[in-house]
Amino acid sequence: MVLAKTAKQRLITLEGVNKSYEQPNGQQITILESIDLELRTGEIVALLGPSGSGKSTLMRMIAGLIAPTKGKVLYHNRPLIGLNPGVAIVFQSFALYPWLTVLENVELGLKAKGVLPDVRRQKALQMIDVIGLDGFENAYPKELSGGMRQRVGFARALAVEPELLCMDEPFSALDVLTAENLRYELLDLWLEHKIPTRAVLIVTHGIEEAVILADRIIVLGRNPGRIRADLPVTLSHYRDRKSPSFQALVDQVYKILTNPELEEIEPSTPVFSVSEPEPPKAKYQSLPAVRIGSIAGFLEILEDRQGDLYRLAQELQLEVDDILPIIEAAQLLDLAHIREGDINLTETGKEFIVSGIDERKQIIKERMLNHIRLVQQICTLLHSKRNNRITEELILDILESYFSAQEAQKQLQTAIDWGRYAELFSYDEPSGEIFLEQVDIPEPAAV
Ligand code: ADP
Ligand code: MG
Repeated sequence: MVLAKTAKQRLITLEGVNKSYEQPNGQQITILESIDLELRTGEIVALLGPSGSGKSTLMRMIAGLIAPTKGKVLYHNRPLIGLNPGVAIVFQSFALYPWLTVLENVELGLKAKGVLPDVRRQKALQMIDVIGLDGFENAYPKELSGGMRQRVGFARALAVEPELLCMDEPFSALDVLTAENLRYELLDLWLEHKIPTRAVLIVTHGIEEAVILADRIIVLGRNPGRIRADLPVTLSHYRDRKSPSFQALVDQVYKILTNPELEEIEPSTPVFSVSEPEPPKAKYQSLPAVRIGSIAGFLEILEDRQGDLYRLAQELQLEVDDILPIIEAAQLLDLAHIREGDINLTETGKEFIVSGIDERKQIIKERMLNHIRLVQQICTLLHSKRNNRITEELILDILESYFSAQEAQKQLQTAIDWGRYAELFSYDEPSGEIFLEQVDIPEPAAV
């Protein structure tokens, strides 16, 4: 049923693609690095990765909305210039015009392509029918449920008969049941060749969603985004979530995602100075945006239930996107470690669990002063200032050489949160200053 009628054709090819952005301070940061990828006709490809790994950026390059900084995007083996004429996108946020009816919204893409009004209307009505929006042609988006709104998003994208249908987390704004229903309806349409689409690219952070839908799963890593795995899925549709082969694949992807190559910092990082002309381009250790409290809570749960991370996440009903940052943080702080998808408390982790609040703070403090580069740098700077105060801008300036402005903010917030927990330093919101509360705080060792 899913066998391609003709040999698979290359639709999109990415060769050595990099994407970087210039920061407000003039520095370049790399979002995606060395991406080689091929999308062929007849396949659904899932692009899976943690948030911030560059999934949307990659999809936007394929759609021709943005150009790569380096490397090539080819469409039918020819360099893509400007918008990709063969691509239509479905967005997570639906992106409908509130002042247009369902029909008018669906017609939009056709209008942009210069299709004549009569043909436009006929094609739009036909797609509205296929997508199950019959009877809602004249409704406005605000009258529709989330699921129905996303149907409009699908109808609008499919009405232009794209060769490649791109979807950026199309089900994540919907409730679980609506999402599941829409997912299967889409799969039906694809498998029964009811939609005029030759390939599908779905961006997702849901492992099960990827395994349900995709013929191939591309796993992206972060900082910068690289392809970590390209896995074929050979299970036939419709796939049984409970079957051992389904579970094995979910496990495999889970292991790839939860085994981040933790960026160990070089122990003798030179103390930076603000006037440093060229900051080192080496990777900067990235702090996952979680509170120490969440890590502590997770460790407590882990204490009784060591072992398989995927089962644990299922039991706790946590998505990989929720649990990944906690695990990364627990590893950075040397409280837990992962091997082959199994997670266990370290000796320090075990000690942490049985300790009172003051001892816990001490454990975190020691670990941070020795291993968390951003916290080390903040402490060093605080000690170097006579009044033991620094502005957050100073830290943001440094971070923006490595992270996007938004991510730099997150990194700073996490460092402040962790630093406060360990009573290493404090933060004055109104003035945006970080300061030492007690001057007897030790200076970090490694900086
Ligand atoms: P994902 O979709 O996987 O969550 P994105 O592709 O949206 O990731 O973003 C990847 C990274 O690129 C993020 O850190 C984001 O802040 C950064 N980024 C995205 N667009 C821009 C931009 N226009 N300028 C600067 N940084 C950006
Ligand atoms: Mg995204």
